[in-house]
Amino acid sequence: MTWVDTHCHLQLDGRSPGELLDRATEVDWVVAPGIDAGSSRASLALAEEFPDRVLSTAGLHPHDASSWPEQRAIIEELAPSVSAIGETGLDFYRELSPRDVQETSFREQVRLGIDLGKPIIVHCRDAFSDVHRIIESAGAGPQTILHCWTGGTRWTRRFLDLGVVFSFAGPVAFETGQTIRLGAELVPPDRAMVETDTPYLAPPPHRGEQNEPAWVAHVGAALAGAWGMPVDEVAAITSANASRVFGR
Ligand SMILES: [Zn+2]
Repeated sequence: MTWVDTHCHLQLDGRSPGELLDRATEVDWVVAPGIDAGSSRASLALAEEFPDRVLSTAGLHPHDASSWPEQRAIIEELAPSVSAIGETGLDFYRELSPRDVQETSFREQVRLGIDLGKPIIVHCRDAFSDVHRIIESAGAGPQTILHCWTGGTRWTRRFLDLGVVFSFAGPVAFETGQTIRLGAELVPPDRAMVETDTPYLAPPPHRGEQNEPAWVAHVGAALAGAWGMPVDEVAAITSANASRVFGR
């Protein structure tokens, strides 16, 4: 049984990426999303160092959207060489950059993904309706990955209609994750992937520890519970979906 960890910030982890990959013996490969110009460059370097295990991305996280004018040129320059655009999106929970600035940065990264025909990795926190509106108006649904999906039934249905793919993370396995599991039940297995969001959001039984790609199986097990499906089938189908989505 092997997994694909579709969101794993190996380059933001103080630990050795090689060691984290070595002990993730059941993880075939990972995606290491950039969150700004520097970490996007580092993502590309990891993909060159571990060509069989790591895919790179280039993007600017909504937290830092205020710096889009300065970072844009570098991200656009890296974009043709990476496997996906992002992580971008909207975060109205922490709102570390003003909302209108987040929207501009997000829209322009969505446009970049469309122009290059690459998947777009989207962070969405307390911003379901705005993310929906922007993805819909750009016609970007089929190439959108909603990372760390936390929507309940209502938003899961609405985003399903746009053609997106959902990536589930630790919260689907949390004791408090019942709403997310109800949303997950509605997602057809061919529209779902799994991730750790390393080094954040470790799933039980590791909650509170620094997350790592080896623990993606705990996320997959929670999804298996929501779907009433054997874990090995969840591993196979989510891995096949990741290969299709990232063209690998
Ligand atoms: Zn992330």
